[in-house]
Amino acid sequence: MSKGLLIVVSGPSGAGKGTICKELLNELDLNISISATTRNPRIGEVDGENYFFITKDKFQDMLLEKQFLEHAEVYGNYYGTPKSNVLDMLEEGKDVLLEIDIQGALSVKEIYPDGVFIFILPPSMEELKNRIEKRGTETKEAMLNRLESAYKELKYVFKYDYGVLNDTVESAVDNIKAIIKAEKCKVNRQ
Ligand code: 5GP
Repeated sequence: MSKGLLIVVSGPSGAGKGTICKELLNELDLNISISATTRNPRIGEVDGENYFFITKDKFQDMLLEKQFLEHAEVYGNYYGTPKSNVLDMLEEGKDVLLEIDIQGALSVKEIYPDGVFIFILPPSMEELKNRIEKRGTETKEAMLNRLESAYKELKYVFKYDYGVLNDTVESAVDNIKAIIKAEKCKVNRQ
């Protein structure tokens, strides 16, 4: 049996990767990996569904026990992808979707180059700014910080396999579905 496909969707904050991933999960038979994070839950977020919300001490323990496939510090909080679950699903032939930041995606690429690495591009810088501001879940300082990082991060698109423009969610999802279809037809996949 061939291994499942690891699909890594990444890109700057505000590019719309969360919405795109939700839609991909609705439309395709994909398994999501739930990350651990030390940030506080936002209103409506559920532990074990959106994230595993854990303390910094617990995160540190998991790190020392090498329980993460990758981890990163994003805007002062720690995030990590629990390893065993993801690798088990891939071995069982299940396709796994990771929605992670750019540092995390680049470290997954080093240890798991067979994955498909997709960078979500915002339609314009103006739109990126609007989206980050509209989210309104953070302080003004945190928003400016996210915007500045997002500008800097755009150059990393060249380290990915694919760049997908998020002008509409529908077209971005269609393009990613086409990418997944093509990857599954590759003759030299393991
Ligand atoms: P948020 O706090 O807005 O949910 O996520 C902040 C950023 O962290 C987003 O870019 C999101 O994709 C990223 N992120 C979420 N989970 C993980 C993870 O497990 N690893 C890494 N490297 N980034 C993550």
